[in-house]
Amino acid sequence: MIANSPLEIPSDLSTDQPAFIWFRHDLRLDDQYAVATAAHIKAGVTGVYILDEGGRDDWKFGGASRWWLHHTLERLAKALSERGSSLVLARGNPRDIFASLLEALGPVSILATAHDGPFDRKREEDVASLAKETGGVFHLVGHNRLYPTGTITTNAGTPYKVFTPFWRSIGERGEMPNPIDAPGSFPVSEGWAEKVAEWEREHGDRLGDWQLLPTAPNWAEGFNELWQPGEAGAREQLDRFLEHDGPQHYGDERDRPDKSATSQLSPHLSFGEISPRRVWAETMGRFGNRSEPFLRQLGWRDFSWELVRHNPDFMDVNWRSEFDHFEWEQNDEALTAWKKGKTGYPIVDAGMRQLWQTGWMHNRVRMIVASFLIKDLLIHWREGELWFWDTLVDADLGNNAAGWQWVAGSGADASPFFRIFNPVSQGEKFDPEGAYVRKFVPELKNLPQKYIHAPWTAPARVLADAGVKLGADYPKPIVDHKAARERALEAYKSIKAA
Ligand code: FAD
Repeated sequence: MIANSPLEIPSDLSTDQPAFIWFRHDLRLDDQYAVATAAHIKAGVTGVYILDEGGRDDWKFGGASRWWLHHTLERLAKALSERGSSLVLARGNPRDIFASLLEALGPVSILATAHDGPFDRKREEDVASLAKETGGVFHLVGHNRLYPTGTITTNAGTPYKVFTPFWRSIGERGEMPNPIDAPGSFPVSEGWAEKVAEWEREHGDRLGDWQLLPTAPNWAEGFNELWQPGEAGAREQLDRFLEHDGPQHYGDERDRPDKSATSQLSPHLSFGEISPRRVWAETMGRFGNRSEPFLRQLGWRDFSWELVRHNPDFMDVNWRSEFDHFEWEQNDEALTAWKKGKTGYPIVDAGMRQLWQTGWMHNRVRMIVASFLIKDLLIHWREGELWFWDTLVDADLGNNAAGWQWVAGSGADASPFFRIFNPVSQGEKFDPEGAYVRKFVPELKNLPQKYIHAPWTAPARVLADAGVKLGADYPKPIVDHKAARERALEAYKSIKAA
């Protein structure tokens, strides 16, 4: 059973035995139960982060996540050392790393946050069995969601397949348990610290060894100005959002990519630099129930992970198996145009370029570009999922898979396949002045508002005045949306018939 609030110290945890905090997607000290539990250990506490790239196939950290990981680990190590602890880095299979640590250091307790991803759970099982074999203690304490798996279920005790009752059920639970503050310090044990340092000298890694940062070319150069990875950055981002009354305007403005109306907390939440309960508590404390439209998104996050938890191959296969019969197209040229933001549809191209330049994309635009890939180009949603995985700083196994399967119509509580976004009218509706397009597709910046989302409809003179040569400065549409829509609906008929 995973510990929930309030913090309960496991009865078999000896405070006279040193402990490791095994950090994974929970890179924070605040509202982190493994951390809070470890603060009670008198015999010495050390953080461990293991770069584990085995057993994940396609799901190793993508490029943008690697950039983020480098910076967040740097800051976590500093925060731990300021509190009398440290962070050991190692690369490999966690079971092997802990076996080596336990062999060198003797009996140690291992404390970790529970996660829902299939790779993480397998590693948890492996490390738990190692602890058992070696007479050690392994505990999963706390989780990374609003409520841990298995607590929000239907009356029959089964997982929800539809979001609204899932969300209602969260509401019916009453007050959200309060987050736990970060410990001010960890008890220091000199003998323990020396033994750890000795192991580290022989077996540990330095962050630079992992080469997480891009070099030639350094495509992440601009990221430094946009993002502040780490717990302090997460907290500042939340404070900024709240100070600007973000939750108040969220319901009306969240769909506008031309405004900064969403929290941009996603990478911080994905890396676990802030807990969703902290976000909830701070937001509710200041805005009360008016913040429901915003907090609901945290509910979607829990829902996505619930899907992964109960369907461990959710990121790889259709949740609705009838989609296995869908006849996707293999079209490398179109896929490349989509990735590069050169489809000829300005809102799609702006989104794909925002992704490349900043490592992030607005949610409404994620839906538009995903619909375009899947329905206008008939390319499998998994191609888009993998590209997002590589390029998003908030790449998140659960949210990414759920987002793609939602748009494809193959997921749980998904948008039906026949709901096909028109990239022109979506642009006109959600980026009415074209400010978002002008920012990320600067070659169109001088086009009048009337044509900004459909430059091919502009008279030759207007294009010339704006300095745009279609097909040279900016592509002509790679597909005709109307015809592509018909084709997609036709393709969909074949799976309905299957
Ligand atoms: P806000 O609107 O401020 O929401 C607050 C938090 O709630 C977010 O940080 C996020 O953790 C969560 N959230 C918001 N929307 C959703 C949603 N629809 N589903 C689940 N959780 C949500 N989100 C990721 O974190 N990682 C991904 O890899 C990811 N891939 C996506 C792929 C597609 C095709 C789509 C349509 C959506 C995807 N999302 C993903 C969900 C959503 O787009 C982002 O979470 C959101 O845009 C992040 O911006 P924000 O932090 O300003 O969100």
